[in-house]
Amino acid sequence: VLSRIELERTKNAITNERENFRNLFRQTPEMVCVLSGPDHLFEFVNDAHIAALGFDATGKTVREAQPESVEVHGLLDDVYRTGKTALLHEIPVTLGNSVRHFNLTYAARKNEAGKTNGVMILGAEVTDVVQSRKLLAREAKLIESMPAPFFAVDADWKIIYWNPASVEVIGLKQEAVLDKVIWDVFPGLKESEFGETYIRSKNEQTIHNFEAFYSHYNRWYRVWSFPFEGGIAVTFLDVTDRKIIEEELEKSKERYRILFDHSPLPKWIIDVETLKFVDVNNAALQHYGYTKEEFLSLKGTEIRPPEDVEGFVETMKMDFTKENQDKINLRRRHMKKDGTIIEVEMSALDIVLDGRKCRIGAAVDITERVKADARQAELLAHVQAAKEEAERANDLKSAFLANMSHEIRTPLGAMVGFADLLRDPSLSREEHSNYIGILTRNGEQLSTIINDILDLSKVEAGHLTLEFEDTSADQVAADVVSLMRVKANEKDLALDFKAESSTPTTIVTDSLRVRQILMNIVGNAIKFTQAGSVKVRSFGTDAGPDGRMLYFEVKDTGIGIPESEKERIFEAFVQADGTLVRRFGGTGLGLALSRELARKLGGDVTVTKTAEGKGSTFLISIQDQPEKRTERSERQTESDFGEPAQNSLEGISVLVVDDSPDNRQLLWHFLTKFGAIVDFAENGLLGFKKALAGNFDVVLMDIQMPEMDGYTATAKLRGAGYRKPIIALTAHAMSEVRKKCLYVGCSDHLTKPIKIKELVALVARFGHA
Ligand code: ADP
Repeated sequence: VLSRIELERTKNAITNERENFRNLFRQTPEMVCVLSGPDHLFEFVNDAHIAALGFDATGKTVREAQPESVEVHGLLDDVYRTGKTALLHEIPVTLGNSVRHFNLTYAARKNEAGKTNGVMILGAEVTDVVQSRKLLAREAKLIESMPAPFFAVDADWKIIYWNPASVEVIGLKQEAVLDKVIWDVFPGLKESEFGETYIRSKNEQTIHNFEAFYSHYNRWYRVWSFPFEGGIAVTFLDVTDRKIIEEELEKSKERYRILFDHSPLPKWIIDVETLKFVDVNNAALQHYGYTKEEFLSLKGTEIRPPEDVEGFVETMKMDFTKENQDKINLRRRHMKKDGTIIEVEMSALDIVLDGRKCRIGAAVDITERVKADARQAELLAHVQAAKEEAERANDLKSAFLANMSHEIRTPLGAMVGFADLLRDPSLSREEHSNYIGILTRNGEQLSTIINDILDLSKVEAGHLTLEFEDTSADQVAADVVSLMRVKANEKDLALDFKAESSTPTTIVTDSLRVRQILMNIVGNAIKFTQAGSVKVRSFGTDAGPDGRMLYFEVKDTGIGIPESEKERIFEAFVQADGTLVRRFGGTGLGLALSRELARKLGGDVTVTKTAEGKGSTFLISIQDQPEKRTERSERQTESDFGEPAQNSLEGISVLVVDDSPDNRQLLWHFLTKFGAIVDFAENGLLGFKKALAGNFDVVLMDIQMPEMDGYTATAKLRGAGYRKPIIALTAHAMSEVRKKCLYVGCSDHLTKPIKIKELVALVARFGHA
């Protein structure tokens, strides 16, 4: 009994122990199950098994509980049959629809007799491990097959990974770099941007992404570095080619920038939509007078004159692409900052800049060219006008010459004709003196014409010498009026002179010229008046812009002057009406000469009033020019000489040197009439010889002669020590001529035509000296 009890106790103890084990197995995280019999009936399963299968399989065979797990059915059969323990590593087991992996230990259960009666399974699911390993392997393969270099360094900068692309690209085998410090593998790296960034990436465990130039390889790289296990992993791409292109692009941009900025032509870029300037070059700033900031704040409309803005806005709506460049004619007007309007020729091209439609414009300032063109046109017009003027003057001159020759021939014809008639011995005394009167009058007329021409050409050539002296306005006017009275009386015209109280008693001017002017104007007034009167009035002003002025107003009741001719009649050779010449005679020179003379005297001659058929009023103005007063007037007038006495020249021997036989004869008559003894020489050379050989009291020396002229002969005589008086006979009253005569040694001079009183007075003065 005891032993039975003992046995029972032992049995109980074993049962307890088994129970303890069961409980222990039930809790373990490994799968534990006990199978019995050849059909592998689940006798015991723990929680982990239940969890793995999803249900409690106790009481079922393996084939019943897991019909799909064919992988394990055979294995279990084998273990049961052989009794050998099987260790299965990561064996795939199909459970339901999924394949899972397990590490399994199958161990045979044996009875007391050592016969297998079941299988015990210990297992752990490793599905996650297997799967993640698979994943890792795939990733590793990916990295391995990466075409870009990829490497990793540990916390000590030792290279722990080096992919095949690194081998290929960098040219270093794995065995040559693995476990080496990265700074030893890449020379100069630590000090470069790469090194700096890697250090930062590792220390801060941050990702970096940058581009840098590795001078050792002379190439550009784009690099990614990221933290990896306390070290870093690095991958990079060679971007040198792209960099070169970029640099080229940058350079060409720069080139265009320089071209744009330094172009001598004003250039800008304008936004077609907003009309705002987006860029401008230096030339434009300089030319338009703005600073860059100012210009870039402007709109295109603001560099146009207001009236051109509308046109500009229209133009901005047109397309200025490359294709239609030639269709664009861009002559424009622009406005500078200071408001100056300039003419420009624009060229424009549309471009797209940063997605905006823009237009590049270049301006050529053609203001000067336009002006020059205008100037040239103006010049051409002037030249044309001058040419026409010259042609007209030429025509006038021809007409004048024709008229002149008529004017000269008329008195000349009369003189020759009447001189011929004088030869007739049967002439009565009355006829005789009448003819002589005609001869004298015509001679004087001829002389006037010729003097006018000479005077005018002298004035025009600037050769006129004026002598400024105290001149009495009253005296001049009275002289002219008394001289002209004869003519006025002939036509039954009243001629009077009235001096207003404002008339200055004297002014400093050339009295001879003033007389000449007044004579002309009064002469015209009488000539062009058939009936009525000619009134001369003088007055003065003191404080005009030209100082003191003397005026003569000459008013007639004659034919008047057509409005259109009022100015033209002052031109030389012009007469108001071609037919007038026939009616009134004249040369068309008087007014031209009068005006020229008056202007030389600081005044003018103008027509102040005229109406056809009602008469004309001429105004002569003369300026008082005391500052021009001539030192000593050497001019003598006929009135200075009294009537010579019949014997004034008695006992005086005179040598007349003149090439003209008529002149010689005339002088012989003049001189012998007053008692002189006269001898002759035909030219300067003969005169020179005769004067030296003879003993003459006076030599009369003509200036213009063949063989030797009067200047030379006189100079030679004086050079030879000849001391007697020599009086020059000159054609001009010009003071230049007189000066030259005195310079070569003449004692005095006489102007042709010789006036008898003057001649006798002079010869008497020198002959009796
Ligand atoms: P001339 O009298 O020798 O023709 P002038 O130069 O003195 O030349 O005058 C030019 C022209 O002006 C004259 O031909 C005449 O037609 C006009 N003229 C001058 N003075 C007068 C005047 N007082 N009344 C009308 N016409 C005049």
